[in-house]
Amino acid sequence: MALRFFNTYSRKIEEFESVDPSTRAVSIYTCGPTVYSRAHIGNFRAYIFEDLLQRHLELRGYKIHRVMNITDVDDKTIRGARQAKVPLTKFTEQFKTAFFEDAKTLRIKRADEFPAATDRRYIDRMIEMIGELIARGLAYQADDKSVYFRINKFPDYGKLAHFDLTQLQSTGRVKHDEYDKEHIGDFALWKAWDDEDGDVKWNSPWGPGRPGWHIECSAMATALLGDQIDIHCGGVDNIFPHHEAEIAQTEGVTGKKFVRYWLHCAHLLVDGQKMAKSLGNFYTVPDILAKGYTGRELRYALLRVHYRVPLNFTWEGMQEARESLGRIDEWLARLQELVGSARRADRTSQRGVPTSAFEEALDDDLNISAALGYLFESIRETNRAMDQDQLDAASAKAWLDWWKRINTVLDLKPETEIAIPVEVTQLAEQRENARREKDWKRSDELRDQISELGWEVRDTKDGPKLAPSGAA
Ligand code: AMP
Ligand code: ZN
Repeated sequence: MALRFFNTYSRKIEEFESVDPSTRAVSIYTCGPTVYSRAHIGNFRAYIFEDLLQRHLELRGYKIHRVMNITDVDDKTIRGARQAKVPLTKFTEQFKTAFFEDAKTLRIKRADEFPAATDRRYIDRMIEMIGELIARGLAYQADDKSVYFRINKFPDYGKLAHFDLTQLQSTGRVKHDEYDKEHIGDFALWKAWDDEDGDVKWNSPWGPGRPGWHIECSAMATALLGDQIDIHCGGVDNIFPHHEAEIAQTEGVTGKKFVRYWLHCAHLLVDGQKMAKSLGNFYTVPDILAKGYTGRELRYALLRVHYRVPLNFTWEGMQEARESLGRIDEWLARLQELVGSARRADRTSQRGVPTSAFEEALDDDLNISAALGYLFESIRETNRAMDQDQLDAASAKAWLDWWKRINTVLDLKPETEIAIPVEVTQLAEQRENARREKDWKRSDELRDQISELGWEVRDTKDGPKLAPSGAA
């Protein structure tokens, strides 16, 4: 069945087709962290959903080019640096480092690029785009010297959020610092420098200042992925105004449809409320580790619910994650033992062969709950078959191979390595000797014997390494 996603733009499930279907290349842009504090696990729910998306597309044979930006200049970062009395770059650096550390703990695949908004190359691109928007009448410089996007000139403004512009006008409420704008909904592309910004400023044709948050993403996305991208992600709070503004700015410059599929993840909640820095109801990755949980357990807890369903964070949920992983570990150990025993079953259970139900569930708008449902149902049934001596070594091996495949998406291998049995180590040593003597036939036989015991030898540049069959 074809791959399909819920597109926020159309509010419909759509079949996935990339910009260029003649290749398997897919471009993905994901809004990254604003580095004014350590990201909380709500942010990481969004990044884990994006990780799942990338890994599933890869499993389906797509070649992904993913960009995740780092917002290292905006009101919050500037305020933070001022309060800490350190230069902006020094202030943001610590949170960038923490972000990469936490992402690694959660086994989130690295994007191909992590452009930073303050990189000169992108600042130039932002200035260039703003200039073009002014030239087309889509932006104007107001009396306060800032440059704003003129939303009334972009008829599609509001389409992504399904927002009625007249409602925006009818509120009639205008904040003090927005008097200069033509329309309350006009958003800043370039913010004129003021005292509060200290030495954070760049020169532009409109005077010194800094870019608005929205133009940062339009510039970095198009600079690295081109005018049209396949998938753009973020949390639902990014839909308006951030992503709406990204569309207006980018399409205002290129005249082309910017994004084919908009995917947004629902929030991580605490007691029914969005987990947010501003509400103070958040946990960071180190907070969770300090309670004795592992990165793997947190990854599972954030991954296991469909991305469009709000997920309530609880400690019971963490405990459930631990138990589910324990079941997977026990099952893998049992299968490995069975493979090692080379046993033949009296009768073969119906669960002799895994199906493609896991992948197919993910094809359906990344339905991870259904995919995991199939995994646990399979665990239950193969365990039962093993109890009744109805699973043979070949079937056990098939299940381990299947696990290896789905684990490229889940990345849930145990944190601690399983001890290597002495027998396996001895066989590996004999194989090394055979290889040294260039006795390839013997070496292959020994590899097969090792495999029969549920292990495999991987020849790495640091020499041969042993791993349980099926481990990623
Ligand atoms: P920020 O650093 O605030 O720009 O947010 C980074 C990413 O985290 C964005 O994609 C947000 O939409 C997302 N995000 C923020 N809070 C939550 C939350 N409680 N649950 C899920 N995603 C969130
Ligand atoms: Zn963004």
